[in-house]
Amino acid sequence: MIRELETPAISTLELGADNDAGRRSNALISVVVPVFNEEQVISLLHSRLSAVLPPIAPQFEVIFVNDGSVDRTAEIVDAICAADTRFKALHFSRNFGHQAAVTAGLSAARGDCIVVIDADLQDPPELIADLVEKWRAGYDVVYAQRISREGEGFLKKATAFLFYRVLNRISDLQPPPDTGDFCLMDRKVVNVLNSMPERKPYLRGLRVWVGFRQTAVPFERKARFAGETKYPLRKIIALAVDGMIGMSKVPLRLAMYLGLLVSAFSFILGVVYLIQHALGTDAAPRGWASTVVLILFLGGIQLVCIGVIGEFIGRIYDEVKERPRYIISRSTGF
Ligand code: UDP
Ligand code: MG
Repeated sequence: MIRELETPAISTLELGADNDAGRRSNALISVVVPVFNEEQVISLLHSRLSAVLPPIAPQFEVIFVNDGSVDRTAEIVDAICAADTRFKALHFSRNFGHQAAVTAGLSAARGDCIVVIDADLQDPPELIADLVEKWRAGYDVVYAQRISREGEGFLKKATAFLFYRVLNRISDLQPPPDTGDFCLMDRKVVNVLNSMPERKPYLRGLRVWVGFRQTAVPFERKARFAGETKYPLRKIIALAVDGMIGMSKVPLRLAMYLGLLVSAFSFILGVVYLIQHALGTDAAPRGWASTVVLILFLGGIQLVCIGVIGEFIGRIYDEVKERPRYIISRSTGF
C-alpha cells in the first residue's frame, strides 16, 4: 500500500525538469586546467579566465592541476590562488600525464558543470560562454570542435586526422571528429566518469561512451601562446594506443582475421602445387624464394599478433595492480 503511494507521479518528474533548468541558470561552474611546465602562459590564462567567467556564471572555480612541473609553474599558480580564492590548485608528486591530470581535476571539481581546457590558450577561454549556453539549453556534453588548426605541423595534423577516423571505424562509438579535450560536461556525466576505475582512461572516448545529450560547438584552434608542446610524438602514440586498446577489441580480432587470410592463402597454394605435381609440371628446385618470403611473412604476422595480445595483457596487468592513477602531493585553496 505504502509502496504504491511512493511511486512518483508525472508531476514529480516535471518538477525534476524544472529544478534542472533552475540549477543550470544559477550554476557553479568549474574549470579544470591541466598544467605541465607552463610558466610562460599561466598569468595570461589567469587574466583571460578572470575576464571571461564572471559574466557567464555568478559563481565559478578554476582548478589548476599541476602535473609535476619542474619550472616555476607551481610558484605562479600558488600566488594566483593566494590572491584569488576562486582559483585552486592540486600539485602532483611527479608527471603523471595529461589524462591523469584531467581525471584528478574532475574528481576535485564541485561545479554543476565542468569545463576542461588546455593551459596554453590554444583553446580560447572566450568559447566557454558558447559551451555554457548550449549546456543551459539542455545539453549534457558540449564539445569544442576544431574547424581549423593554426601553428601545428603537417605531421601532427595528418596523424590526428587519420587517428580519429580509424578509431571511429574500429570502435562502436561515433565521437564527432576533431574534438579534443576542450569540452563542457554536466555534473551527472562527471559523476559517471569519476565512478569509473580505469587506470588508463581515454577520456575523449569515455565521454562519448557515457551517452546523454551531446552536441558540438565549432571553433578555430589557435597556435600555442608560448612555450613548446608538452605532447611529443612519444606521448601522442601512447595516447593513440590507449584510445585504440581502451575503446576497441578490433586489434585483438585482427590476429584471427590475419590467421584466416593466411590459412586460406596457403590452402590455395597447396592445391596449386598438388595439381602441378599431378600434371608433372612442378619445378621443384625453383621454390626457394617463395619459401623464404612465406616464412618471413608468417613470422611477421605472428610477431604483430603477439604484440597486440601483449598490449592487452599489459592493460590487464595495470588494472589488477590497482595502483593510484596519480598522487597529489599537496593542494592549494581547497
Ligand atoms: N599537459 C599535462 N601533462 C603532460 C602534458 C601536457 O598536464 O604530461 C597539459 C599541458 O600543460 C597543456 C595540455 O596538457 O595544458 C595540453 O598539452 P599541449 O598543449 O602541450 O598539447 P598539444 O596542444 O600540443 O597537443
Ligand atoms: Mg596545446
